[in-house]
Amino acid sequence: MSDEEPVENISGGAAGGGQSATFDPETAGTRAEAVVDCLGDLYWQKTYGGRDAFECLVRTILSQNTSDKASQPAHNELMARYGGGDDTDLARALAEADQPELAETISSAGLYNQKSERIIALAQRICEEYDGEAGFDEFVREGVPDAVRSTLLDMNGVGPKTADCVLLFAGGRGGVFPVDTHVHRIARRMGLAPAEADHETVREFLERDVPAEKCGFGHTAMIQFGREYCSARKPACLDDPDACPLAGHCDQVGVYPATGEVVDPAEAE
Ligand code: SF4
Repeated sequence: MSDEEPVENISGGAAGGGQSATFDPETAGTRAEAVVDCLGDLYWQKTYGGRDAFECLVRTILSQNTSDKASQPAHNELMARYGGGDDTDLARALAEADQPELAETISSAGLYNQKSERIIALAQRICEEYDGEAGFDEFVREGVPDAVRSTLLDMNGVGPKTADCVLLFAGGRGGVFPVDTHVHRIARRMGLAPAEADHETVREFLERDVPAEKCGFGHTAMIQFGREYCSARKPACLDDPDACPLAGHCDQVGVYPATGEVVDPAEAE
């Protein structure tokens, strides 16, 4: 993952909104789908969409190289000053913002000069190319997914995970499985993707093996599972083989309970 990627999931995890959906866990066609069904039972099964695409991008830029705890107040301040009421076009307001004033508004997020310049440049581009945030939202929701993805990737400060999160959480697109650091680790540990796979390859395997309507909650629930059970340094199975609810689906690549050792799957023997 590039350094530009936010560490945290921009959906907001369990509180990230979305509609409940129901699926039958008995009908999984692949192991990846079975894992996602189990995650759905463990956490939630939702479909996503309807988030404001430009605001997702602004949130991402604010969260770069900092924690959610530091970037959330900056986001709140920015929305209070430039978000206005329902009729306000956030992109237009930010395209016309005074850079030092915006920098001061978002100062709690760190790197505020660079971030304010990026946000203003992005807002100006959205206004020039899509006539504001409503036009950009429509493009994200209805454009050809590959074209939307490459357009997003062409924007300064937007990496693959952010582009996929915008497609999922703003565009409501099925079949998009964003890969963050948790998903990248867990998919390779479990053997759902090759041990040496990079983020893009893991995404390809998951999007191939998980039905489109399950990719969204597969992503958010796998992140939650990574925090609670399959953490980077101390996966739950290391001390207790029965402690992980997904142990029956897992190859434990790079996890050695006998010695207590954990390595990245790419370094596993
Ligand atoms: S069995 Fe261990 S390595 Fe596999 S998913 Fe569970 S905690 Fe992670």
